[in-house]
Amino acid sequence: GLLKASDIALYYAKGQGKNHFAYYQEHMTEPAQARLRMEADLRGALERGEIELVYQPQVETRTATVVGAEALLRWNHPELGLVPPMRFIPVAEEMNIIDELGRWTIRQACQQLKAYHAKNLKLPKVTVNVSALQFKMEFVDTVREVLAETGVDPSHLQLELQEGVAMKDLGESIHILNGLKELGISLCIDDFGTGYSPLGYLNNFPLDSIKLDRSYLVKSLENEKEANLVAAIIDIARNMELGLLAEGVETIEQYQFLNRQGVHHMQGYLFSAPVSASELEAMLAPWHFM
Ligand code: C2E
Ligand code: CA
Ligand code: CA
Ligand code: CA
Repeated sequence: GLLKASDIALYYAKGQGKNHFAYYQEHMTEPAQARLRMEADLRGALERGEIELVYQPQVETRTATVVGAEALLRWNHPELGLVPPMRFIPVAEEMNIIDELGRWTIRQACQQLKAYHAKNLKLPKVTVNVSALQFKMEFVDTVREVLAETGVDPSHLQLELQEGVAMKDLGESIHILNGLKELGISLCIDDFGTGYSPLGYLNNFPLDSIKLDRSYLVKSLENEKEANLVAAIIDIARNMELGLLAEGVETIEQYQFLNRQGVHHMQGYLFSAPVSASELEAMLAPWHFM
């Protein structure tokens, strides 16, 4: 399993790493030291092969088939073990290496997709997360370059954008999103409903689908008003001809609730945790798609 934030904080506070002495400075506060140590470790982690992607299947529940897989970053720290992305992505952003990490991630995901397809295995879509700081005009070039480099059919690639990602400058955001759409890939809003964004953006942005955040699912089984809210979100998606996938599905009850609402695309521990590329391979059906 992944480490808890408290374990990581403890590790860095104790300075158990081997090469951390150079970063020690008396006047620094504990968190600042910890941050510097993590930065030192993260620098070069890609080159050392400590970073990898795991994949969580997305399932069409009526046919029980895998319709996609979300690529999720893992950092296998030599001493700490697995550091969760929520811990190191903000650090990568602050260090200004998020663009490099983002390019690596998309390339890796595309190469993996190609490898599955070369074995005639069915994976219609791989979906990659994009952080707010990656989201700029140059990013369109990055995606175009990786698609050309790997030769992946763009229709098999999806990007997941957090709701807040595109909210800074509406004009520029639409420009970037149109640039991405023109590449032929699909775009999904991650964690839908958690970003306090005006719903109008659904009309202005060239989106293909939304991902219903796990928190709605949990709450909707606790009270009726929340359930009504989820039903309303599902209606919006339907009326706007957007795909909808529910994430974080953990229980049979949640599955049944979604099924009653006519939602059949799901992702979550009930089906599978994120797994290695070779473990995902075992879940894919044969596919002769040429
Ligand atoms: P997210 O995009 O919302 O990803 C879903 C997270 O929920 C993943 O955690 C996944 O392992 C976890 N999850 C999946 N199924 C269940 C479930 O049934 N129950 C519960 N409680 N959790 C479930 P993970 O892998 O730790 O990723 C956390 C976040 O880190 C992601 O949230 C995403 O925002 C970010 N992230 C991960 N990989 C990347 C990446 O390549 N680039 C960027 N920019 N962000 C990434
Ligand atoms: Ca995501
Ligand atoms: Ca999500
Ligand atoms: Ca979420």
